[in-house]
Amino acid sequence: MKMLPYSKYSAEELDDYIRNTSPESVKNSLRSNAPGFTDFLHFISPAAIPLLPELRESAAAVKRMYFGKTIRLYAPLYISSYCINNCVYCGFRSSYNHQRRRLNFDEIMNEAQIIKDMGHDSLLLITGEDPKGASVPFVAKCIRELKKKFSYINIEFYPMNENDYRTLFEAGCHGLTLYQETYDQELYQTLHLGGPKQDYMFRLNALAAGGRAGFYNLGMGALLGLNPNWRIEATNLAIHAMWIRKKFWRSRTQFSFPRITPTQGGFHVPAPVSDTELEQMMLAFRLFFRESDLFLSTREKHEFRTRMAEICASHLSAGSQVAPGGYQAFLDGQSLGQFTMNDQLSVTTVISDLKARGLEPVFKDWDLCFSA
Ligand code: SF4
Repeated sequence: MKMLPYSKYSAEELDDYIRNTSPESVKNSLRSNAPGFTDFLHFISPAAIPLLPELRESAAAVKRMYFGKTIRLYAPLYISSYCINNCVYCGFRSSYNHQRRRLNFDEIMNEAQIIKDMGHDSLLLITGEDPKGASVPFVAKCIRELKKKFSYINIEFYPMNENDYRTLFEAGCHGLTLYQETYDQELYQTLHLGGPKQDYMFRLNALAAGGRAGFYNLGMGALLGLNPNWRIEATNLAIHAMWIRKKFWRSRTQFSFPRITPTQGGFHVPAPVSDTELEQMMLAFRLFFRESDLFLSTREKHEFRTRMAEICASHLSAGSQVAPGGYQAFLDGQSLGQFTMNDQLSVTTVISDLKARGLEPVFKDWDLCFSA
């Protein structure tokens, strides 16, 4: 188990420190007005578990301070389920024989219109690594057209070089999300069995390439359930984020917390992360990365998502479909997907439940005048 090159400490040292944190240290960290990295370690420690009510209260106060009552809604749009990578946990992996689909330009616009008709104004474009179906020029052309309809476009694609990222940024895409999946390099190699994704360092460095290309929002995360030590995974994520924040201080850091859910083709989750563990992790990120956006997708149950929206999450997807053509298929009475969704409620229902908790769901948090 190794830490990122940016870390001054070894994984063993950090793990030892986290496990030996005392409840008094957690209480002291909760009293801090500007928690640092050491406080973050306290928040994710086992000693913080009995203090979760206090962590919730502090995190909710921080969320109110930076975001008010707002909670931003967005929707994913899948372009292609073709993929040249072989990630053992994914239903789109190259070795799994299933019906794949890549959308053409008109089909993408059709999906986008269905999403727009739900009320959405922020779009997350997602694709497998499909050089034929989701090439940079093709995606740039789509983004230029989609930008006429949506205020904000984010991508969750395969890693690219700086020039390709700049092409997409200049087309009108302003957010980049790239999960490292796991920061444990040895574990990473056992999970990625084919394709360019086997290159751990290229993936790790790609977010910085996006930062140099100018992306305003840089999103990161790890796929939870892969690493038996979620606390070290969270620590590496925080270290990566601190490095990104220091180098690209004009960009906003964002975090996602995807837990593995069942996929087509089956995958045994080696180290499931419980609701309480996920909550503790999210609270720690809210308390340390105060101004950053925290995302929760429809992988999570509705009740959990709305509760997290009250105390720490700032962005929720809603009414999502997680396969290319999924929105049209849903209207036609079919169901497709990259992973199992646990919140399949409509956008209208999500909004009314958030409002019932005193929150203000918003579709738009970005304007074209900022992207001139
Ligand atoms: S996780 Fe991404 S890169 Fe890996 S197989 Fe699935 S779509 Fe392809």
